[in-house]
Amino acid sequence: MPVWRIGGGSNILVHPSGLPGLTLWMGRMRGFSWRTGNHGTLFVEADAGCPTRHLLNFSLARGFSGLEFATGIHGSIGGALICNAGAGADSMGQKVEWIESVEENGTFRRWESREVSFGYRSSSLGEGDRLITRCGLKLDPAERSQVRERVLRFWSLRKGQPHGAMTAGCVFKNPGIGEDPAGLLLDRSGCKEFRIGDARVSPLHANFIENAGSATASDIWELIRVCRRRVYDATGIWLELEVNLLGGPWE
Ligand SMILES: Cc1cc2nc3c(=O)[nH]c(=O)nc-3n(C[C@H](O)[C@H](O)[C@H](O)COP(=O)(O)OP(=O)(O)OC[C@H]3O[C@@H](n4cnc5c(N)ncnc54)[C@H](O)[C@@H]3O)c2cc1C
Repeated sequence: MPVWRIGGGSNILVHPSGLPGLTLWMGRMRGFSWRTGNHGTLFVEADAGCPTRHLLNFSLARGFSGLEFATGIHGSIGGALICNAGAGADSMGQKVEWIESVEENGTFRRWESREVSFGYRSSSLGEGDRLITRCGLKLDPAERSQVRERVLRFWSLRKGQPHGAMTAGCVFKNPGIGEDPAGLLLDRSGCKEFRIGDARVSPLHANFIENAGSATASDIWELIRVCRRRVYDATGIWLELEVNLLGGPWE
């Protein structure tokens, strides 16, 4: 039967007909432990469902650097690994030492980070039906004030994003080197005006779709399709999705 995996659920759109088969939600596997190594390095072992922000808060309180980029990134560490969540030039794949998974055939596997390829909002772990269960991260000792300063700097990058609105983060990936970011392409193509039912393109940042009340997955999907088409007609660029579609088939 199909198996669906959900961490924090912060970056998914579920098909209107739901998820057939088995859905595994990692939200109760949320612990983490740590030990210090040579030169004050901190080794953290985290369950896949551990909220990324718990690890960030811990490193901030103790004075360890490495996860500041995760400021404002929702969801779990397992989801962050599958999506290679990041901000600026930093991302999850750079901080992970090893990952444990249950493979499609039911066997356990441990991956060293060099065996995994991490790309822009993607990782090779996302190919196939594997479940991430645990991972090990390495953080560097730092002055707490420095960590705090970096956290505030990453926070300031979010000024132009919607806060308090119901969103699933960025809908589309940025097209890449030499092209404008997706938000700007959407804005210039006139998408900021668009709304279907209670799903609307955020007036603050066009790469976010807000649920203004009772938007359905169908409303959001239709809005995604309309925006993608509009950008394509205006610029010739076909935007790739950053949000993960679960269930389907999606038209
Ligand atoms: C307001 C807002 C701002 C955001 N800003 C950013 C940002 O700056 N940078 C960024 O990268 N992301 C951002 N995101 C997106 C999102 O928060 C991250 O990608 C996050 O790491 C996803 O984690 P999750 O646990 O919520 O994953 P989910 O949404 O639950 O799942 C995402 C994908 O991972 C899979 N998955 C989840 N857990 C597992 C597991 N244990 N094993 C196998 N597969 C699994 C799911 O099947 C799905 O395909 C933002 C989201 C919001 C709502």
